[in-house]
Amino acid sequence: MERESICHACGRTMNAAFFYCPWCGAACAENDSVSRQIDAVFEEISLLRASWAVTRFERMESELDTLDRALTDLLAETPAP
Ligand SMILES: [Zn+2]
Repeated sequence: MERESICHACGRTMNAAFFYCPWCGAACAENDSVSRQIDAVFEEISLLRASWAVTRFERMESELDTLDRALTDLLAETPAP
């Protein structure tokens, strides 16, 4: 049978392996260091995603510049009707 523990926040029973209480979402005291590590990983992921988004926008901006220059060159080469 699976080990049970009691949530320190809401007092309900839950699987002792859970990091967060499924009833109220509180971090479990005995898994606290693990949940802190998980929080740190998620924090790192969100920072990486933010910097990735910035890089992506910078790349799109430079690609748009290239297209703009190519279009300007093309229009300059096209003889006026
Ligand atoms: Zn709870």
